[in-house]
Amino acid sequence: MDKQDKQLDLKPITFNGVELRRPIIIAGPCSAETEEQVMNTATELAANGIKIFRAGIWKPRTRPGAFEGIGSEGLPWMQRVKRETGMYTAVEVATAHHVHEAIKYGIDMVWIGARTTANPFAVQEIADALRGTDMPVLIKNPVNPDLELWIGAFERLNRAGIRKLGAIHRGFSVYDKTRFRNDPQWLIPIELHRRIPNLPIICDPSHITGNSDWIQEVSQEALDLNFDGLIIESHECPARAWSDAKQQVTPKHLKLITDALIIREHTIGDKPRNELDEMRSKIDVLDEQLLQLLSKRMSISESIGKYKFDNDITILQTRRYDEIMNDRRAKAERFKLDPDFVISIYELIHEASVSTQNKVMNELAKAKQEDKQ
Ligand code: PEP
Ligand code: MN
Repeated sequence: MDKQDKQLDLKPITFNGVELRRPIIIAGPCSAETEEQVMNTATELAANGIKIFRAGIWKPRTRPGAFEGIGSEGLPWMQRVKRETGMYTAVEVATAHHVHEAIKYGIDMVWIGARTTANPFAVQEIADALRGTDMPVLIKNPVNPDLELWIGAFERLNRAGIRKLGAIHRGFSVYDKTRFRNDPQWLIPIELHRRIPNLPIICDPSHITGNSDWIQEVSQEALDLNFDGLIIESHECPARAWSDAKQQVTPKHLKLITDALIIREHTIGDKPRNELDEMRSKIDVLDEQLLQLLSKRMSISESIGKYKFDNDITILQTRRYDEIMNDRRAKAERFKLDPDFVISIYELIHEASVSTQNKVMNELAKAKQEDKQ
């Protein structure tokens, strides 16, 4: 039986009584740097129809000495954004002091950053500081892929009476690096949705990818997985940004991204997604992981081909072949898979791997021949 939770007591995130429409788009710079940078970016974003403006005021940085945020000095700039553009404002909070400051300066929404969600003491402190307010709070996933810790943070806020809650999926820090800065591990937010169906989930493609070239692709993937919205870092001049320069996009680029998004029919917001869709999403994600692994395996076969060529070793070595098949057959049983099915897959994989090695060795032999001539 799948795990079930006591449902949270939630209400939709509204500003001035108006509920946010899917897809919710939040945009703004990683950090507020100067009043001019904040106002220039905000004015352009507002002109492009963005309704919620984000900016980091206090920045949790990996190493000390990096820009750690402008601090409270930037809060009047956020007030000015609200006054002059009409956008709602959102900042990250990590301590009770941040919460009090955000409230004092009329910030409309706060989010809890990934490093903070990983620390229950800090989350509890924030929850206690927000008690008695109606502040909408978005909670980023913890840096480590731990769904229980993420859900625990929602429970802490909810027990303090905060009902306008939402999740931000920003990927996970993993040892085995992928092309992305933070591994999306889509199964985790999908499982979060299954466990707390009425919680809106927003994707943060900026912190997942760490690269402005891939924001479009990940944003579309998130919407196809029925996410409720996106939070995207946008800076008037990304190259000059004081933090996260590589992943920020100009407001113009952001508009190209959002204009190109295809919003498919099914919505997570107003009707519960059906179970079949949910299971299919999981299969799609797992298949992508299988393909990624296969591609990693093939690139090792290429390196093996090169090694064998350099060291004059034959491609096919019967002993190794037997070892692989015996080992995989035993593992198949351990994973409760039909061993014959697994062996047929491995025969195909092995054949492809041999032909990859063959190809590499032939190419190297040809190049060597040409060198000699
Ligand atoms: C941010 O949104 O700028 C930020 C610090 O993100 P995260 O907590 O996801 O690292
Ligand atoms: Mn950032």
